[in-house]
Amino acid sequence: MRYDLAVIGGGLAGTATAYYAARAGARVVLLERHDVNLGASGSNAGSIHAQIPFDPFRRLGADWARHYSEVLPLFIESIGLWGRLQDELGGDLGFVAKGGLMVAGTEAEMDMLREKSAIERAQGLQVDLWDQGDLSERAPFLTEGFPGGAFCPIEGKADPFRVAPLFLRRAREAGAKLLRNAPVKAIDVEAGGFAIAAGDRTVHASRVVNAAGAQAAEVAALLGVTVPLDAHPIQVSVTEKRPPLLSWLLYFTSEKLTLKQAPEGGFLIGGGWPARMRGGPVVDHRSVLRNLALAQRLVPGLADVQIVRSWAAIVNGTKDWRPILGEVPQVPGFFLNLFPWMGFTAGPAVSRAIASLALGERPDVDLAPFAP
Ligand SMILES: Cc1cc2nc3c(=O)[nH]c(=O)nc-3n(C[C@H](O)[C@H](O)[C@H](O)COP(=O)(O)OP(=O)(O)OC[C@H]3O[C@@H](n4cnc5c(N)ncnc54)[C@H](O)[C@@H]3O)c2cc1C
Repeated sequence: MRYDLAVIGGGLAGTATAYYAARAGARVVLLERHDVNLGASGSNAGSIHAQIPFDPFRRLGADWARHYSEVLPLFIESIGLWGRLQDELGGDLGFVAKGGLMVAGTEAEMDMLREKSAIERAQGLQVDLWDQGDLSERAPFLTEGFPGGAFCPIEGKADPFRVAPLFLRRAREAGAKLLRNAPVKAIDVEAGGFAIAAGDRTVHASRVVNAAGAQAAEVAALLGVTVPLDAHPIQVSVTEKRPPLLSWLLYFTSEKLTLKQAPEGGFLIGGGWPARMRGGPVVDHRSVLRNLALAQRLVPGLADVQIVRSWAAIVNGTKDWRPILGEVPQVPGFFLNLFPWMGFTAGPAVSRAIASLALGERPDVDLAPFAP
């Protein structure tokens, strides 16, 4: 049998692509080397981002941010889609969008937030600048004295454990086939498409979407395609449960931090702190302590909070933080669905668009700026 579409990788990108393609009537096979949602999609911090991240803005500057800001319409589209997904997929995804506040640590960083927010607004993202008085009034749980911040009302959180599995379930109901324990080891171009060696089987498909996350460069190399991806071990921690304190996603400009409270009460502390590689990614305790200290510096109510679990996983990155999305020109029929660093946020809309492209339809968001 020849499938219309083979999707490689059972993370959010792969399961969502499989769902949208199967729902459109395509015969779809999803090839996963282990099992679904065991990669970044099921291990991330669950932040739904829209603001340009501060750390690369500081390092790479405003010209970089203007170029990067072309992704903001994808975030905006995806967050809108997240809001409808619970109904569409018929399940609780833990999605809440009450806003995200990037707190400035210094006046100089507040100036940088002003510059960054102008770039964000130019892409249609609402970002409100708050001064010190606004912080005292609206965010009384914060340490006093920070000069201000940037608030984006569409940011929030969702539950990484729930999303890809629900996409998979709906994809299978729409006829998609899942092959677990099917690592793709070879891809050959053949008449009418591709022959894909996945585990002990060979699958034939007219088109292929590479959604292999941090391993996508290795998969692309099977067809002689070079993809400028990198992979970084990073980590997240969760604290014991506490009464409701924080409904927003919080960031801090002075050092990397994301902080939010899960509906169950635990605080998720992340922001991209490095983990170690020991065969696979393992937690670096120095990163745990520094990450926790930052959270406590911002929110004094967390001074005595206990961390109950930390975990590490590999995030897919690109040097310029931009995604790589679309058909590979030198291998017609071979598509890349690679959204680095914040692929949890962007996954739904980008995967819907990639499914359209792969089925020869016009996507509802413009992926052309990110073409391979
Ligand atoms: C610790 C951490 C925190 C993060 N926090 C956030 C956040 O808060 N918000 C946000 O938006 N993003 C966050 N991210 C990034 C986000 O999780 C990723 O960008 C996104 O999940 C990538 O999804 P994916 O489906 O492309 O990759 P993955 O979820 O990694 O899935 C790729 C899949 O491909 C499979 N695969 C690989 N090679 C092969 C092969 N040869 N054959 C078959 N299958 C293969 C893998 O087994 C895996 O299941 C975080 C990432 C990490 C690691």
